[in-house]
Formats: sequence, C-alpha cells, structure tokens
Amino acid sequence: MMLIFLGPPGAGKGTQAKRIEERHGLRQLSTGDMLRAARAAGTKIGLEAKAFMDRGDLVPDRVVIGAVEERIQNPDCARGVIFDGFPRNVAQAEALDAMLARLGKKLDAVIQLKVDDAVLVARQANRVKETLAAGQAVREDDKPEVLEHRLKVYHGQTAPLIAYYQGRGLLRVVDGMAAIDAVTASIEAALRK
Ligand code: AMP
Repeated sequence: MMLIFLGPPGAGKGTQAKRIEERHGLRQLSTGDMLRAARAAGTKIGLEAKAFMDRGDLVPDRVVIGAVEERIQNPDCARGVIFDGFPRNVAQAEALDAMLARLGKKLDAVIQLKVDDAVLVARQANRVKETLAAGQAVREDDKPEVLEHRLKVYHGQTAPLIAYYQGRGLLRVVDGMAAIDAVTASIEAALRK
C-alpha cells in the first residue's frame, strides 16, 4: 500500500503515520526526519538543507526528490510506504507520480489531516512550553515566527495538492482535531473505503 499523509505542520501526520505503519506493516517515510538525520550526520544534503529548514522554507525539490527515490527502493519499503511530509508542492507530486510509474507502483490513497491554523498555533505553544519546562532547547523551526511562515508555505505551496489528488480520486479527508485515537480510527475507516 502506498499512502500520503497530507496536512499542515503539527497536524499529527507523524504520530498517526507511526500508528498506521505498525498496524499495516508499512514504512513511514518522513522527509523532515530524513533531512534532520542528514543535518545531524553533517552530509552535503544536510548542510544544504539547514538554512531552508531553519527559515521554515521548503528545501529545493531536487534534494528531496532524489533522497525519496533512493529511499523507497530499500527492501524495508517493499510492503508499502506512508509518505509523511512529501510531496510538499505540485512539482514533487508530479515527480512522485513519475517515480512510482518507473517502479511499477501506484498510490492507494491520500489522507488529508484537516486542522485549523489556530489549533496548530496553540498546540505548538504547548509543545514549546513543555520543551522549556524539561530544560531542553526549542528547535529553530518550532519558534512561533517560523511556524507562522511554515503555515504560509503550507497554504501557498502544499495545499494545492488537495485539489491535485481530489482530481485523481485519491483524497480522503479526516478531522485532525479529534482525539488521537479517534483520528486513527477515522484514518482506518478511510482506508477501508
Ligand atoms: P517536517 O518535519 O515535515 O515538518 O519538515 C521540516 C522541514 O524540512 C520543513 O519545514 C522543510 O524545510 C523541510 N522539508 C521536509 N519535507 C520536505 C519536502 N518534501 N520538501 C521540501 N522541504 C521539506
């Protein structure tokens, strides 16, 4: 099964992807995690991505697309993948279509997690408070002004994918503001459709 989890930053894509991955034997593929790992390892990709990530901008398409294409050919992705945070714009979505066609695979569904911006801002303020209370450093892209920019980028560049996948009959909309278990149940129900 090939799935995309689509939604704004902080919508719970990662949390839900982890739950669904376990239940269905899929592999969660988070481009944000891949880029953070590349940064931590100090690779060329990581160094290139740093400034974009810290500002809350998208990392150039060729960097992300190349990394995804390499990653999905790993044997651990053979049973299926949940794309979490990819694609982030129409160019990436077209590249994914072409990539999957080359590999003889196709998308099964795109799960859109719908969450209002005000809820995302409140959730993030909570996270920052908890991080500080635990004596840990707040991630650069978790700062309020960066989140605001990330939301702008989401609405401008990523949200057009909703129409893109709706037009292909793949979109399933889920209320991401419900309790975590209820969201998981809605995703499971959407996958049975
Ligand atoms: P995330 O953890 O998915 O919110 O991603 C964190 C940051 O990594 C984003 O704000 C972007 O700078 C970068 N990033 C993650 N995925 C992508 C992608 N598909 N395309 C471009 N940049 C990305």
